[in-house]
Amino acid sequence: MLNEFFNLPPSPVQEIFDDTLSENQVRLFVKRDNLLHSSISGNKFRKLKYNFFKIKELECQKIVTFGGAFSNHIQATAAAGKYFGIETIGIVRGERTEPLNSTLHFAEHCGMKLHFFSRSDFRDKDLIIKQMEEELGDFYFLPEGGSNSLAVRGCMEIVEEIDSQMPFKPDYFCTACGTGGTLAGIIAAAKSSQKVIGFSALKGAFLERDVQRLLDIEEDIPCKNWQIIDDYCFGGYAKWQPELIHFINDFKRKHSIILDPIYTGKMFFGIFDLLKKRFFRPNITIVAIHTGGLQGIEGFNQMKLKKSGFKIE
Ligand SMILES: *Cc1c(COP(=O)(O)O)cnc(C)c1O
Repeated sequence: MLNEFFNLPPSPVQEIFDDTLSENQVRLFVKRDNLLHSSISGNKFRKLKYNFFKIKELECQKIVTFGGAFSNHIQATAAAGKYFGIETIGIVRGERTEPLNSTLHFAEHCGMKLHFFSRSDFRDKDLIIKQMEEELGDFYFLPEGGSNSLAVRGCMEIVEEIDSQMPFKPDYFCTACGTGGTLAGIIAAAKSSQKVIGFSALKGAFLERDVQRLLDIEEDIPCKNWQIIDDYCFGGYAKWQPELIHFINDFKRKHSIILDPIYTGKMFFGIFDLLKKRFFRPNITIVAIHTGGLQGIEGFNQMKLKKSGFKIE
C-alpha cells in the first residue's frame, strides 16, 4: 500500500514565458510538485515518503510532530496518518481559537489530536517531547516541518525526476525554504556544475547551519555552490506587503499558476527581482520547484488579508 501511494508518476516540468525572462535570455521551468498529490501537496509528500516507510518498518502506531497554525506539514501528516491508519498528534504553536482555521480543522477532521502550546512554551521542544512520552508512551517523532535525513532522501527525488524529464541539465535549482529539508535534498542530488538557491520564508542565518547539518549526514555532496537568500521574506514568516499579493495575483493571470504567500510567492518574487537586477547570466536555465502549500491560502486570506482589503484571487 505504501509503495502504491508514494510511487507516483513524476510531476510535470513546465516552461514559463515572460518579457523579463526573454530580456535576460534566461529560461525558467517550474517543477509542478504542487500537482503531485491532491491532499498531500508538494514537498511535504516528498518529505513524508521515507518517514512512512520507516514508520511501517518500526511498526509504530503513533506520530508526534510540531507546526504552526497554518502548517502545511501538520496538514500533510494528518492526511497521511489517516490514510495509513496511524494515530497523529500535532503540537501547535499558539493558543487554540474557535472556530479553528481551515488547516487545523482539516487536521482534526483527519483524526489528528491537537495540543496547543504558547509561543514561549513551544520553543522548549525537548520538554514537550518528554511530556508526550509520559502521556503517550512510544511514538515516532517527526521534527517541525518534517525535516530529517529521510526527508532529505525524499527531496533528492525531485532532482532525480527532473534529470529524467529534461533533455539537458539546468544551471540553477531554486526552492523556497522554511526548515531547510527540501533545500538540503536538492543540494544533495545536484551535480557539481549546478547551483542551488534557497529563498527563505523567514529571517535568520540559522537556516544555513540547519541545512549544513542535514547535509553532513550525507556522504560526498558534489554540489558546493548553494546559498540561502532571505531578502525576499518580507520581514519574516507569514509577513507580507501589498506588492507580494499583487505579484501573486499577476502571476496567476499570466501563467495560470497559483502561488502561496508564505513560500512559493516569495520565491518567484525573488527570482523575478534578481532577474531585474541582472543577477543571472544570459543563456542559463533555472528550474524553480513549486513546493505546493496552496491549502494555506484560504486561512491566510481570512486572517491576514481580510482587514486590509487585499486578497489572493
Ligand atoms: C514546508 C514548505 C516549504 C519549506 O520546506 P522546508 O523543507 O521546511 O524548507 C516550502 N514550500 C512550501 C509550499 C511548504 O509547504
